Amino acid sequence: MGDPAGAEPYFQRAVDATTRRPGGQLPRDAIPYFNYGLAVLDQGRDDEAANLLETAAALAGRDRHLDRLRGRVESALGRIALGRGDLAKARHQLESAVALQRALDDMSGLAASLRQLGELALLEGAPAQALDYGREAAALVEAGQLADQIHDSLELMARIHSALGNAAESRAWSERARQHLARTNRERNPAIAGALEQRAPRPDDTIEQLGSLTRARAFGTLAVLALAATLFAAGWTLLRARRRNRRLEWSSTTDILTGLANRRAATRRLDALPGSAGSGDTRAALLLVDIDHFKAINDEFGHDEGDRVLVAISRCLQLACDANDVVARWGGKEFLIVRPRTTQAAARALAEHLRTAVEQLAIPLQDGQSTSVTVSIGLAPCPYFPGPAGWHDGIRMADRALYAAKYSGRNAWAGTWGEPAGQHVDVYSVRQDPEAALANGWISVSGSRPIAWQASRADRAERTAGSIGTGHRLHAGRAP
Ligand code: GH3
Ligand code: MG
Repeated sequence: MGDPAGAEPYFQRAVDATTRRPGGQLPRDAIPYFNYGLAVLDQGRDDEAANLLETAAALAGRDRHLDRLRGRVESALGRIALGRGDLAKARHQLESAVALQRALDDMSGLAASLRQLGELALLEGAPAQALDYGREAAALVEAGQLADQIHDSLELMARIHSALGNAAESRAWSERARQHLARTNRERNPAIAGALEQRAPRPDDTIEQLGSLTRARAFGTLAVLALAATLFAAGWTLLRARRRNRRLEWSSTTDILTGLANRRAATRRLDALPGSAGSGDTRAALLLVDIDHFKAINDEFGHDEGDRVLVAISRCLQLACDANDVVARWGGKEFLIVRPRTTQAAARALAEHLRTAVEQLAIPLQDGQSTSVTVSIGLAPCPYFPGPAGWHDGIRMADRALYAAKYSGRNAWAGTWGEPAGQHVDVYSVRQDPEAALANGWISVSGSRPIAWQASRADRAERTAGSIGTGHRLHAGRAP
């Protein structure tokens, strides 16, 4: 469900309407509770959602007409358990939902529950099992033409294949997901969603309507039900429009191959970084990471294996970073890590941590062998010199440091850090002659090896020759 905050008041009013029903609540009042519960769940208020869903189940009781709803409540409670990390409970509830939904032929509910089981299997580190669930869900979605589940289903398959190490398959599923999104967006003019949104009743109007309805008891149950249905429809329309927008947002900010933030999303985060007051303060650290001799991997093993390496390095970097760090695919072959608010010493430690994490990574190849690669890293702060916000100079200097790491022999990191004394210096002159900038006290310099600022003769020869020596090592036998 998309951002449900706008829809929530409608569902809430629908629930309130049932509490005012003359003669008390009925089993079918479980429906608004269920919808309200889902809207609350989508806003991350799990405890509240669980209460509403349990109320829905209690109201539904054993009413045969509400069997489907019971299956979906079980499924949603399974989703809550999954979010809380209670995997055993999640499995129990999702499996009982699946059993009920199979018996009832609830294809749509079943597809959603199977996807949750797929997510669960991924969390349990069982991607082969996730694939079984994902495939069945995808088949149901396709057979039933369950339009609102197509994207999630394709996207899950992409993640499952990524977890299985099938980079090419993962890319193909991601591409299908992206195309689906593009198609639906073209087909459904967003103006229509906007118009529907305007036509939906406002919550304030509804309170008044409800007041007069309760006074005019003659309307009784029928009127309350009709109002609940209207409110439900309005809320549902809003949810669908917002869900579509959220998917668009996802696809425009995510790199399809690796699932990392793309350059656009990273740029937004860079734009939001604050300025810095003085030398003793903390700044953001920018780390540009480039795979060494990556072209040789493509040449030797093929582009698909090259993609697997990119996916493996992405995961490795993500695992090695903190939750607050931005890990993005900055270019085809470059990653950018942004660590907000850190010190120079901590940024250096992070660079070394990332370098060794990649160095120690065994990357499984399709034929059962594994390979390993190294990376070179360029480090710089943001803002580069203490002062107002702005990231372009930081990126320029991280890029300059990355070149230095390459010239220093690769599998290395190099960094420069703008000092207060350099505040009024043009960063281009620092790029041009970092040694002079260091001697003037404008920057400090660090690295995992003695830094070479210029390309060696051998480096220049390699560049001229096009292809260069392989930096990766091939290991026989299965990857761990
Ligand atoms: P160096 O150590 O100097 O960085 O050498 P390199 O071979 O890694 O050179 P470079 O960083 O310039 O990498 C360029 C290679 O990256 C060539 C290009 O085919 C490959 N590449 C870029 N994007 C992708 C991608 O999405 N998938 C694959 N498989 N390869 C890619
Ligand atoms: Mg490279």
